[in-house]
Amino acid sequence: MSKPPITASTIIAGVAGWPVRHSLSPLIHNAWLEAAGIDAVYVAFGTPADHFEDFVRGARGGAVRGVNVTLPFKQQALAMATRATERARTAAAANILIFETDGTISADNTDGLGLIAAFKGQARGFDLAAGPMVILGAGGGARGATAALLAAGCPEVRILNRTLAKAQALAAELGAGVVAGGLADAPRAFEGVTAVINATSAGLANAGQLTVPLEATPSSAVVMDMIYKPLMTPLLLQAQALGRRTVDGLEMLIGQAAPSFEAFFGRPPPGAVDVRALALAALDP
Ligand code: NDP
Repeated sequence: MSKPPITASTIIAGVAGWPVRHSLSPLIHNAWLEAAGIDAVYVAFGTPADHFEDFVRGARGGAVRGVNVTLPFKQQALAMATRATERARTAAAANILIFETDGTISADNTDGLGLIAAFKGQARGFDLAAGPMVILGAGGGARGATAALLAAGCPEVRILNRTLAKAQALAAELGAGVVAGGLADAPRAFEGVTAVINATSAGLANAGQLTVPLEATPSSAVVMDMIYKPLMTPLLLQAQALGRRTVDGLEMLIGQAAPSFEAFFGRPPPGAVDVRALALAALDP
């Protein structure tokens, strides 16, 4: 089915962030919209840091149906919402704002759903409740991931961060089932884990590299990286070389996009379109 022309009733949704030009979300959502024949467009709203509040004020009231929110506004988005789901409050961040017609703003966070969908999709048979997992990093991504893993039954999340105090603060806040350490604790923390998840920005261009002893993980451990550019990060390449199964950040991105689509357009995305193939083609330099 081809996409209908833009009309007076075309629904507008999008992604707000800064910078946002690299975002794959417009590609993913517009492919789904076209396949579903929905009269809507999904665009990128580049909102420089001091203009995010103005953007949200302008969008509220329903002129825009809703937006995904990406770096660096996820915490600010939650703070501006009228109401928020429990998972957004636990993650202390929102990646979805829905602008209701009465002027209220609803916040949600589907990053955790995306993470779990990625494991389901790429690590077939992986049992989230089977044992402890390590998360590298203690920023927004790590916080949301930890909350989602605990909610999915993971018995223990070991948060290792470059800045130990931040890992400790996050562990204290999230409570039972979360322990903190520094990156130097990796060899011991990797013992007996079912998975290691990179939620640091190390591996992104100009953000430095992460060197961790993946060989200390059990051979059955799955290694996941939230970064998807490059798709095969140095950590995932190291994991592959050791024979570990891997899960990539693109699968997580698509996994969070699906419930976002449903929140904006009232139905799940159509299954017929291979958005991963489209995204991979766009990522290919
Ligand atoms: P934050 O800025 O909140 O946190 C960054 C984290 O990375 C901090 O823990 C920081 O440690 C750590 N860090 C940065 N540089 C290094 C380094 N050189 N060595 C070791 N640790 C480092 O970012 P987010 O949590 O929001 O995002 C983290 C990553 O996850 C990003 O790359 C983001 O793009 C990705 N992401 C992907 C998603 C997806 O759908 N695939 C969804 C959400 C996030 P310290 O505290 O010491 O500064």
